Amino acid sequence: MAAKRNPALGACCSALTDALKLPNPLFRIEDDGVLYLTVAYAQTPQGVGWFDQAALFCPFCGVQIQDRDVITRGAK
Ligand SMILES: [Zn+2]
Repeated sequence: MAAKRNPALGACCSALTDALKLPNPLFRIEDDGVLYLTVAYAQTPQGVGWFDQAALFCPFCGVQIQDRDVITRGAK
């Protein structure tokens, strides 16, 4: 889990707060604090391939939780 965490994550509604606490969520918080949602995954000869998308808006209540500029800056 990331040390630097976006304080907006989970601040919008209890559904997201609870989801982020799940032991095996289809969420991923990178070291830069950006939240990604797993949209799909595929079994490939090289292993499991993940299709992740940075979440700009809360999937539960629709409030903006991340800024596109921040995500782009954090992208490697
Ligand atoms: Zn929310």
